[in-house]
Order: sequence, then structure tokens, then C-alpha cells
Amino acid sequence: SIPVEEDKPEDLEDRPPIITVMGHVDHGKTSLLDYIRKAKIADGEAGGITQHIGAYSVDLKGKRLTFLDTPGHEAFTAMRARGAQVTDVAIIIVAADDDVMPQTKEAISHAQAAGVPMVFAINKIDKPGANPDKIKEQLSQMNILIEEWGGKFQSQEISAKHGKNIEELLEKVMLEADLLELKANPNKNAIGTVLESSLDKGKGYVTNMLVEAGTLKVGDIILAGKHTGRVRAMLNEKGQNMKEVLPSRPVSIIGINGAPSAGDKFYVMNDEREARNIATRREQLYREQGLRTQKH
Ligand code: GDP
Repeated sequence: SIPVEEDKPEDLEDRPPIITVMGHVDHGKTSLLDYIRKAKIADGEAGGITQHIGAYSVDLKGKRLTFLDTPGHEAFTAMRARGAQVTDVAIIIVAADDDVMPQTKEAISHAQAAGVPMVFAINKIDKPGANPDKIKEQLSQMNILIEEWGGKFQSQEISAKHGKNIEELLEKVMLEADLLELKANPNKNAIGTVLESSLDKGKGYVTNMLVEAGTLKVGDIILAGKHTGRVRAMLNEKGQNMKEVLPSRPVSIIGINGAPSAGDKFYVMNDEREARNIATRREQLYREQGLRTQKH
């Protein structure tokens, strides 16, 4: 079994919120994430984000926000069931020239089931056909009452394409995150979640991960799903080499001997042999389960 270190209250430090953008296809998820990634928001330095590593962090007025940046709906759906647990705040984006759609409703129920607070981004307000009030009305029919209408949900009208009101949206997200008083212990072996992994011809297996607690260091022994390895190199979303990575930060690492699945937890282990034993046992278990499902 994996030894998980207990945290003492005095070990806990503030950590950035992890934010997911969810919504119906074509309602503007990618546009919003792209805008935030490229924009030099407030006094931040978001403009330097050059690497896609499954998530990125930006500064908003001296505070850090981490966005999950999972492209494509398949990857997103695959991780969503588990991914919602990685998320602290969900931005639900709805196009104001459309309606609250099935995937919008699905996103809302996902966030609600996971107990993740939601902030509503009513997008495409630049379009002539935009009708934000209609969206608010449709949300209210689902018992989602926004603040403006006396409810508890924050919402912001935006244009992701033109970058309108994005800072206001992020301030509302930050407000929601502040209520959660998010903390993690940075002074222990890192644990976190695999965002995606791939095989690179030159580098070998590249694993993009999100550190949730502890500090990940070069040289650490990692167990991720049924794979293990030692961290040989780490890059952040700006392409910078990292020696240490703190909680709520994404990182791309080299050193794992395979491709763990999106949503797999990773653990830093003290003992390399133990890590390998657990990985081997998991591999056997998966294989047996695979055989059993084939038989039935
Ligand atoms: P996704 O499927 O939710 O990721 O949606 P995209 O970000 O790919 O957006 C779908 C389409 O809507 C694209 O053609 C975008 O350029 C367009 N779009 C997104 N946001 C806005 C906006 O605020 N205003 C306008 N006019 N178009 C937008």
C-alpha cells in the first residue's frame, strides 16, 4: 500500500485554485482558455506560455490561478469523471446566441455532483443575436439563480473572442476560490494527477501532471498508475527547466517507463523497489480484469 503522509495544520500553506472551463461544444471553451493563456492579464506574465502541458498558471493581481487546458472533447470526457475532483472551481460557459444545451446541463450536474462551485460565463455578447437574459432565464428554470437575480451564483457576460470582461470573470472566480481557503502541504513527497502522456521520439515517455500536494523534485521516484520511474527532467508551461514544482502547478516530466492514463494518481515513493512491485501488481490485476471482461 502507498504511505500517504498526514498533514499537520501548521504544515498547510495557501495554494492556487485549479479551474476547469466546461460547456457545450462551440460555446467558447477553447477561445476563453486561449485568450487567458495569451493575454497579459493585469500585472501577470501569462504571455510567456509556450508549451501545452495540459494545464497552465497565470497571475491575476499577484494571485495565481491554474487552468486545466485539456484539448478535445474525448480527452476531456475521459478525465471528467475523475477530473472534476481535480477542479476547485468550474467556469460554465454558455453562448448567449444559443441556449443552455445538453452538454451545459451535463457540466452543471457534474460540478454539482462533485460539490465544485460554479461561475457562469455568458459568452459571445458581441454577437448581434446575443441574448444573455434568455440564458439567465433558462438557468433559473434549472434552479440556477444568478446573483443579479437574487441567487447565489456569480455570472459574467463576456466575449472570449474579443477578450471583453475576462478580467472581471477571473476576479469572480478568484472570489469563489478565496471562500474555499485552499491549502496544501508543500513539505512532503508529491502526490497529484496525470493529465496526459505521450511517447516522444527524442525524449521517450513524456507525462504531463498536476502536483496537488507536496513538492515534486528532479530525482524523485514516481508511481503513476501501473508505471514507475525516476524524474529525469521537468519543464513548466513556459518551457523552463524546473528543479522543484509546488502544489497546484502543472509540469511535464521525463522519466516514467510508460504512459499512464489521464486521471491516474501519481505518488512519489521513497523506495524504488516497492514502487516497482506495486506497479507490477497493478499490471497483473489489470490484465486479469481484462481477461475476465473478455470472457463475459
Ligand atoms: P469550444 O468548442 O467550446 O471550445 O468553442 P470554441 O472556442 O472553439 O468556439 C467556437 C466558435 O465560436 C469559434 O469559431 C470561435 O471563434 C467562436 N467564438 C468563441 N467565443 C466567441 C465570442 O465571444 N464572440 C464571437 N463572435 N465568437 C466567438
